[in-house]
Amino acid sequence: MNLRTKGTPHNISEQIVAKVISENDISRRICLSGETDENLILSSQDIQVFTSSELLNNKIVFNIPSLSDLASADILLISPDGSVNTLFRQKSTHNSLFITDRCNSNCLMCSQPPKNRDDLDFFFGINTRLITMIPSTTKELGITGGEPTLLGDRLITLLEMITDNLPNTEIHVLTNGRAFAWQNIPESLKKINYNKIVFGIPLYSDFYKDHDYIVQARQAFNQTVLGFHNMARYGFRLELRVVLHELTYRRLPSLARYIFKNLPFIEHIAFMGLEYTGYTPHNSNRLWIDPSNYGNQLEEAVLYLDQMGMNVSIYNLQHCLLKPSLWKYARNSISDWKKEYLEECNKCKQLKDCGGVFATSKKHSNEIKAIL
Ligand code: SF4
Repeated sequence: MNLRTKGTPHNISEQIVAKVISENDISRRICLSGETDENLILSSQDIQVFTSSELLNNKIVFNIPSLSDLASADILLISPDGSVNTLFRQKSTHNSLFITDRCNSNCLMCSQPPKNRDDLDFFFGINTRLITMIPSTTKELGITGGEPTLLGDRLITLLEMITDNLPNTEIHVLTNGRAFAWQNIPESLKKINYNKIVFGIPLYSDFYKDHDYIVQARQAFNQTVLGFHNMARYGFRLELRVVLHELTYRRLPSLARYIFKNLPFIEHIAFMGLEYTGYTPHNSNRLWIDPSNYGNQLEEAVLYLDQMGMNVSIYNLQHCLLKPSLWKYARNSISDWKKEYLEECNKCKQLKDCGGVFATSKKHSNEIKAIL
């Protein structure tokens, strides 16, 4: 699925956030409603098909290769260069607000490597416009980056806007959590009505040097663990995320014991298969291990946490790579727009329950084989 496309702009001099209001001729033309009364049209046809009155009265992006990934009520960002980015998909449960490309960590397996550009104002402006257009019936909304806490106080402004506009929506903030080591930050977040917000924070090892090495930042382990405790002190809901690879799998059982003993207030623990994109292919010799080879460690960690009464899940791993004892923990976690099934999957009896593979991964396990 394409969330980005581009055509040729006509009459567009500034960025527009707009909602699809008509897709009756989706193969060739759709109409949009923006924040003002302007008429907006996206078209896969050439400019000659438009009448002179249409050209006079409309903002148009024409010659778009395909409109088939756009649907009614989707919200788009249209730029003066003719690019069209989908910000919100009405039919998806995997929508997120993107806060920044910047990050204060530089994880070896980052799927979306940080960029050192000052984009905080730009995305803040887009997101404040987007929030007011998202339907109040939306069940879930993510906050992601980069590192969202780099937005500073404006993250609170955004979260307040979301909780005001979308009071029934579950919010999931993906953050490295290091900023929460400074107690004034959890304290200032307290003014939000936050019982529907979960903060998902990674911890890759119970040994500080391993965690610091993986995130490529000194003191990251201490800051993250202190951050967990500071957030828990104020009653925030917390999720802990562990990415599974060559540098993390050996200590999974001891990490599980560490979590139970030191972070018992964590509401959900997610063990996550690697997305083979971004930095990972460049660090493949340090990171890659076939998931079928860490089954014992993963099983021990997951079953231990479950037995201790903690809520544990496995994300991004396929049933054929997991021991059957772990199938019940495997979730359909890969976002719909970047999920696919391989040819092998067509004959698999677990197809209905399996969450598929990352379409974005440049490499998959050789052990993906149909369960017959
Ligand atoms: S073969 Fe495909 S559908 Fe079956 S478990 Fe593996 S990845 Fe899932």
